[in-house]
Amino acid sequence: MFEKILFPTDFSDVAHKALQYVKQLRDAGGTEVVVLHVIDQSNLELLSSYSTIQDYVSIENEIQKRAIEQIGFIGNELRQLGFTVSERIEKGIPVRVVLKVADEMNPTVIVVGSHGKSNLEEMLLGSVSEKVVRKARHPVLVVKR
Ligand code: ATP
Ligand code: MN
Repeated sequence: MFEKILFPTDFSDVAHKALQYVKQLRDAGGTEVVVLHVIDQSNLELLSSYSTIQDYVSIENEIQKRAIEQIGFIGNELRQLGFTVSERIEKGIPVRVVLKVADEMNPTVIVVGSHGKSNLEEMLLGSVSEKVVRKARHPVLVVKR
């Protein structure tokens, strides 16, 4: 039922909570997980407008390096449980990339947190989770904070 899982993460606490549900899906027939992190293009654009080229390049490299590290931890945790895992880091607009990857891989379920790094108190859902629920053609499991 839940063979192929797409797990988009911004490495926030809420996404970490969602990861616990991904793990549980192993017992519900889960075999394959794509862990996806999108480096938000608009953050990079903001960064580039406020920094020298050298600073920009070194900060972007640092962001990239940390993303690889963090996604690697998650991937290994899931592999230990017996999942086949691919780790994807992409640059772009997070919701667009999530929807694009979903279209490519055709997951049985997409697991997201209800909120992410911004985690605003008054918002029912963050903008990424809201748009994924609205626009994805696949079932979405939204894990609340
Ligand atoms: P907003 O970004 O609208 O201010 P927020 O940060 O609280 O609000 P979302 O960004 O919608 O909430 O995050 C909800 C979930 O979407 C996260 O828990 C994560 O699963 C996924 N997500 C958010 N951003 C990314 C990203 N850059 N890459 C991959 N997944 C993401
Ligand atoms: Mn966010």
